[in-house]
Amino acid sequence: MTIENNHAVTVNYKLHTIEANGEKVFVEETTTENPLTYLHGVGMMIPKFEQELSGLTVGDKKSFVIAPEEAYGEIDPNAIAQLPLEMFQESGLPPVGAMLPLTDNAGNEFRATVVEVNDQAVVADLNHPMAGKTLNFDVEVIATRPATEEELDHGHAHGIDGTHSH
Ligand SMILES: [Zn+2]
Repeated sequence: MTIENNHAVTVNYKLHTIEANGEKVFVEETTTENPLTYLHGVGMMIPKFEQELSGLTVGDKKSFVIAPEEAYGEIDPNAIAQLPLEMFQESGLPPVGAMLPLTDNAGNEFRATVVEVNDQAVVADLNHPMAGKTLNFDVEVIATRPATEEELDHGHAHGIDGTHSH
């Protein structure tokens, strides 16, 4: 069976970024005990990731690179927020490097990285942590099957065999 839209796809993958000097930096990997299962073709994954996997079959291995503009976008130097200190009266000031869970005016949750704390504000970088990064995936296809009605209804996969319902 080959990977196509509305399949629940299980893969093991290793993700590196490729830095400007060509150096590969390890980011994360799945394990045989805990692979990634996702619903293919519903926009859950980076579109280019899904494109690269479309048509592969179980046992296939593929290594590919995704440029920043096709992954998490280029870094936007203007995406910096000055958060008033009053926001942190209850929680206490966060350390530089902390990830802040924030909510925009439309109610969407996102994360910002604290880059500076000064007398006036907590300065947060709103860029996705992987913005500006070239991604290198090494993927092995473990399983692929048509999604169940329930999975399609929920818009996500329920594990390798579709039984992890909730
Ligand atoms: Zn569900």
